[in-house]
Amino acid sequence: MAIALFIGYRAMINNETPVACILVSRRTNEILSIGYNDTNRSLNGTRHAEFIAIDKVMSKIPEQDRSNLSKIQAWFGDVILYVTVEPCIMCASALKQIGIGYVVYGCGNDRFGGNGTILNIHQDKINRPYQSYGGVLRTEAVQLLRNFYIQENDSAPNPKIKKNKELENKEYPPNLDFKGYLSPEEFVEFFGEERYSALYNNRDREITPLINRGYKLKDVLTIEDLLEITELKEMYQKKDFRDELEDDLQNFYGLFYDINDEGKVEFNKIITQIDQIGQTEPVNQVDQVDGPTTDLECKKRKLNS
Ligand SMILES: [Zn+2]
Repeated sequence: MAIALFIGYRAMINNETPVACILVSRRTNEILSIGYNDTNRSLNGTRHAEFIAIDKVMSKIPEQDRSNLSKIQAWFGDVILYVTVEPCIMCASALKQIGIGYVVYGCGNDRFGGNGTILNIHQDKINRPYQSYGGVLRTEAVQLLRNFYIQENDSAPNPKIKKNKELENKEYPPNLDFKGYLSPEEFVEFFGEERYSALYNNRDREITPLINRGYKLKDVLTIEDLLEITELKEMYQKKDFRDELEDDLQNFYGLFYDINDEGKVEFNKIITQIDQIGQTEPVNQVDQVDGPTTDLECKKRKLNS
């Protein structure tokens, strides 16, 4: 999931909504493809991260099998999707059609979620129902979206000025109400018994890689993990991109709060704002802006300008 988040970050610095995913082989653990939202650049509202990643895997399937649904489903049955935001209704349906193995996602999708938040597309009995598990690196997925909306608001002609700094609310929305998504047995099967006691009936805690141990993003994602992505070369468009990738990764780590041993977000950490990335000199402090990003201080700078 941390890899998918990093790809989301790359999407964001290309002015795309930071929703990203990877498809991974269950058998070999190999990353088969990556995808991130491409709706802004392509002006095509269906170019969601999932569709892009699926298309790439589809192109690896022998041509004669591509029009045969059961062959396609045999391929994808071995594949796990890790996506930063719960698949929307459209993507959830597509994932079912192709017979995805299962799905792991970060934060819920309150408006269009097709894996339990709005509709239970993944579980309806027509076609092949699949299992789906949310809440993994959830706050980080929310944080990326907040950063993106800051960027958006900032490029609006009249950014709203936040009226009362004291009203700033740093909290993230509570964790998924797991009871509404998974039965106790399904939760235990995927997340384990100990996490069940800590999380199933408690929305104040985050899922951590090790039970009762906090984490920093740099603990869960290294440059070596990223170098396993064959498509990374295309993203950087040059042969030797390791230094650039290293800089990017350091910037990426700085965007997120740490999670402590109780599974709570450490808001006292100073995080980098997306608009500070790449700055060599301090930027002038400008207006605070409103939006879904109320927790972040925001300085004005357009990326990629
Ligand atoms: Zn979608």
